Amino acid sequence: MTPDDATTAREPWQWPEHVWRGHVDAVRAGQRLVPDRWPGGARAAVALSFDPDHETIPLRDAETSPGRLAQGEYGARTGAPRILELLEHHGVPATFFMPAVSALLHPAEARAYASDGHEIGVHGWIHERNTLLGRDDERDLIARSLDTLASLTGTRPTGIRTPSWDFSDSTLETVLGLGFSYDSSLMADDEPYEVLARGTRTGLVEIPVDWIRDDAPYFTMDRYGSVRPHTRPRDVLEIWTDEFDAAYRDGGVFQLTLHPHVIGHRSRLVVLRELLDHISAHPGVWFTTHSGLADAARAQLRPHSPEERS
Ligand SMILES: [Zn+2]
Repeated sequence: MTPDDATTAREPWQWPEHVWRGHVDAVRAGQRLVPDRWPGGARAAVALSFDPDHETIPLRDAETSPGRLAQGEYGARTGAPRILELLEHHGVPATFFMPAVSALLHPAEARAYASDGHEIGVHGWIHERNTLLGRDDERDLIARSLDTLASLTGTRPTGIRTPSWDFSDSTLETVLGLGFSYDSSLMADDEPYEVLARGTRTGLVEIPVDWIRDDAPYFTMDRYGSVRPHTRPRDVLEIWTDEFDAAYRDGGVFQLTLHPHVIGHRSRLVVLRELLDHISAHPGVWFTTHSGLADAARAQLRPHSPEERS
């Protein structure tokens, strides 16, 4: 055990300042990246994302019963086609962060996202929990996921969303090392920002997420769990409408994370349909993929100062 390990092994309330400050400084939000006007002179940007996790949610916990897997199958078989149809109806592009195992189980679906003009992003191998993995395992799974999606769809993803937004101590280094241009797993702002690593600029654009703008916490239930969150779909529509309206007033970004096996049910897809109707009624809204948004955000990065270069 090194002297530093001995220090960090103590209880948090016993940590000296350099320890708690070191944890906080490891990955931090830098410059906020919002232009005066978004591309096309738009006032606000809207970036929808869908995570077609399907069967990987039970699989990553080694839950292999046909009953659990069928809940994931619903996402591929029933939810995803409805979502693609709705997006086409509204003429809206989206980003699909797809675990590699999900894409291997449903290759036609992965190809359909790409051929319909949407973006495919990395979302882990089997929806693994990165904070439970060693650095090498995490890197290997992300690299394999990148290669798998590239060979299945013919396009190499440029963005990553860690499964469950689980971001380990080594995730940032891995994401930078594999050449991703943006991440969408962190929550430090409503607007895109540059990620800092121990106070140093990385050039990596973060498209921030939040559980508020995610369908899973509102609708997911576990038959044998003690907690069963349940929010009326139309109450969720009100929350997301409020989020969009404020983003529109601020000239910022409205970003949403949805899952085909969750939002794809009939009574919930109404929320997405009515939300898109509401947003589309506003002038000056730029609908874009996360990659398109990351590019517009990156254009706002200030040049490196001489000290930053050294
Ligand atoms: Zn996911």
